[in-house]
Amino acid sequence: MRATKKDLVFLLILILFCALLCIPVFSGTNAAGETVSVYRSGALIASYPLDRDTVFRIEDSVDLTVQIENGTVRVLHSACAGQDCVHMPPIANAGQSILCAPQQILLRITGTSGAPDAVVS
Ligand SMILES: [Zn+2]
Repeated sequence: MRATKKDLVFLLILILFCALLCIPVFSGTNAAGETVSVYRSGALIASYPLDRDTVFRIEDSVDLTVQIENGTVRVLHSACAGQDCVHMPPIANAGQSILCAPQQILLRITGTSGAPDAVVS
């Protein structure tokens, strides 16, 4: 098996995602989240307030439908093969995230306040 250019790109993106997950240690609290940020291939493409119930769809070369309800975020529908992101429990606290690796989409909750806590999710 040889590594194609596509494999290398995917590996780089995975590393980027890992970096994203590790950087905001200071915001990794169990405080209620305020905003969900949507990252695609490591780049922020959108953000939505959690206090407004809505359903939004990320379309392009990807297809992901996300629901915000009662301050929680979950994936309603995804075009990915594994459906891991659809089966993940809803997230609601700052620092939590849902990753759809096949589609390179990361949903991450951010908040501005809250006491630090040793919660690893
Ligand atoms: Zn997925």
